[in-house]
This record gives sequence, C-alpha cells and structure tokens, in this order.
Amino acid sequence: MKISIDSLKDSNEFLNTLLDNITSAIFVTDKDIRIQSFNDSFRSLFYRDEDMLIGELCGNAIGCIYTVREKANCGSTSNCNSCNLRSSLLNAFLEKVPTHRSLLSREFLIKDRVIQKYFQFSTRNITFNKEEMVLVIVDDITEYQEQKRVLDEKNQKLEIINKQKNELIGIAAHDLRNPLSVINSFSEIMLEALEDLKTENLREMLQILKKTSHFSLQLLNDLLDFSKIESGTLELKKLKLNYLSFLKENIQQNEFFAVQKNMRIILNTSCSSIPFHFDPRRIEQVMNNLLSNAIKYSFPDSTITVSVSMENDSVVTSIEDCGQGIPEKDLPFIFQPFRQVSVKPTDNEKSTGLGLAIVKKIIDFHEGKITVESKPGKGSKFTFFLPLF
Ligand code: ADP
Repeated sequence: MKISIDSLKDSNEFLNTLLDNITSAIFVTDKDIRIQSFNDSFRSLFYRDEDMLIGELCGNAIGCIYTVREKANCGSTSNCNSCNLRSSLLNAFLEKVPTHRSLLSREFLIKDRVIQKYFQFSTRNITFNKEEMVLVIVDDITEYQEQKRVLDEKNQKLEIINKQKNELIGIAAHDLRNPLSVINSFSEIMLEALEDLKTENLREMLQILKKTSHFSLQLLNDLLDFSKIESGTLELKKLKLNYLSFLKENIQQNEFFAVQKNMRIILNTSCSSIPFHFDPRRIEQVMNNLLSNAIKYSFPDSTITVSVSMENDSVVTSIEDCGQGIPEKDLPFIFQPFRQVSVKPTDNEKSTGLGLAIVKKIIDFHEGKITVESKPGKGSKFTFFLPLF
C-alpha cells in the first residue's frame, strides 16, 4: 500500500498550499525504511529522479556515502549502527516517540559529486490508511554550518590576538615601570639639587638617564614592531641592493657596541657582490638583533663572525659567537615572544625577550628561514636564508 503526498494535498487545501511552498525536504518511509513519498524540495535537495525513488531504501535514495563507498544497502553498511537518521526512524516505529529532532552530518553523493552536508531533521510516526509510516522533514543547514565554522575560526584567531595584546600590555606596563621611575626620580633629584651637584655627578646621572630612556625607547619600538607584525600590517619595502655593502655598513655600526666589551666582529665571505631584493630596514633590524645578542650573551675579548654565501637560490648569512651558548632544552622556545630563557647577559645588559620573535617574523615575511645551532660553553650560530628571487 502506498500513500502519496498528492493525496494528502487533495484532502486538505491548507496542507496543499503548505507543501507546495515549503522549502524543507519532506519524505515518508515505511517500516522497511523504504521511501514511499516525498515532496519537490526533497527531489531538488538530493537530485534524484522520481521513478528511482519510490520503494528505494532511505540511505540509497539520498546518496549516503557509506552505501556508495561500500556498495551496500542502507541497513547493512559499517555505519548503520551509529547512523542518527536510521536510529531516529527505527525509534519512531518501535517506540512511537513524538517528534524527534536531530542532526546529521555526513558526505553524500549528489549529482555525481561527494558533498559534505549538514542536515537538521525531525521524524514523526504517522498512520495513514491504517498503515504506520514515518514522516521525515529535512533542512539543509550546510551553508549556515560553513559560515559558523568560518566565524568560529575567526573568533579563535581574535581570542589569540586579544590574549597576545593583553600579554603585550602587561609586559609593556611591567617593563616600562622600572625605567620610567628611574627617569622620574633622577630628574627630580637633579632639579632639586642642581646647584649642589658636581659636574661629575651630573654626568653620571645623565648617563643613567640616557641608558634608561634608550632602553624604554627600544622596548617601545620592539612592542610596536611586534604588534605591527602580529596584526599583519607590516609591509616589506624590498629594494634591489648590494647585500654585501649593506652588511659591511651594518657591521661597522654594531662594532661601536662590540668595542665597549672589547669584542670584534669579522666578516667572512668569498663573494665580491650580492645584488638582490630585500627590505633593508627590516634586515637591518634582523642583523642588529642577532649581533646585539651575540655581544650581549658573550664574554668580553671574544670574536663574532658574520659569514655570508650564496647557496642554491638563497643568500645565507650566519652570525656566530663564542659566548655562553644555549642549553638544548631552551632552544625550542627562543623564537617565541617574551621568552627569556636561562642564558643571561654577561654585562648586565637589558633584554626584552622580543628580539628573536621579531627576527623570525621578518625572515618569514621574506619567505626565508632561520636556524640556530648552539652548545653551552662553546657559543651560538644563528643562520638565516633569504630567497634570491
Ligand atoms: P632578549 O631581549 O632577551 O635578548 P631575544 O628574543 O633576542 O630576547 O632572545 C631570547 C633569549 O634567547 C635570550 O633571553 C637569551 O636567553 C637567548 N639568546 C639569544 N641569543 C643568544 C646568543 N647569541 N647566545 C646565547 N643566548 C642567546
């Protein structure tokens, strides 16, 4: 005995209008879970011909991927025991539960394409001409789920950014409080006792003020750079320059700091010129950070070697010191922001824990890579690769 939605339509004018206009896919199955009737939305959702649908097992009719992949009938696939739709249909027959609503997410073969779908469906036991049937109403919520997934991903990213921003503010506030209070109290002392202070004392205080304000400025610049990089607003301004001349100039500037610890920086290369595209301002930042670390974490009277060469399609630069080195357990963390590991500066220099994080990001922006080799007591070698093209 078959029922048809058409006969239901005839019997009720109101139902007629409703079924014609409803966007949900509606179908009716018998006790064997075979399709007995369906509306137009069902056909357009699953793209099946009408004559192939009547009497077809539910899963086969809607292109359930398990029936397709396993070439099996609905009811005998490996997934049938955990199928939401099947258990809801069976329950509707067995326990005659009132309307049951659930979700179904699965791949379906629709119009010869395997598509991931998200359905919201309800099942309800009905009796028609004394025969028990189950009425199923299906709503395709795939688009909504997809939008939700994208939104969730964006929210997760925003949460991470927000957490980093809070960390940044916390660190900035904490690290800036000390130098700012030094600047504040020293300038107060100087103002109050200006007449009595000897030139020598004044020079000493001004030097402390200079050092402290320099550190605050550097920390602020690092924080601004880091947040710029993290928010994706950093734009590289690449220029075609002779990298070797650029390096020589940079080393000369950093030598000023090295000589204060009686250290020297030597350049080691067999190239006479390396013209290629890079952002000089940002690579200068990379070099300044790596060289200042080499100076900061090494003992006086030692040598730092900068080597540059061309390998395959990359320009390879390494900065090698003979300093304290980094314990193996700390190596995985040194490029993470705010990570100051166990190695401390040798001359009480300041550190922010942001330098290497910025270096790594700048190299990433250049589509290059950076590596580190280090042995405690022997020294560290940071090598970065910049693509030539
Ligand atoms: P910081 O401002 O603390 O120097 P970085 O991000 O530049 O921040 O470095 C992170 C940590 O890595 C440092 O605190 C230090 O412990 C370690 N480190 C970096 N460079 C060297 C180096 N050349 N030798 C030894 N340890 C280093």
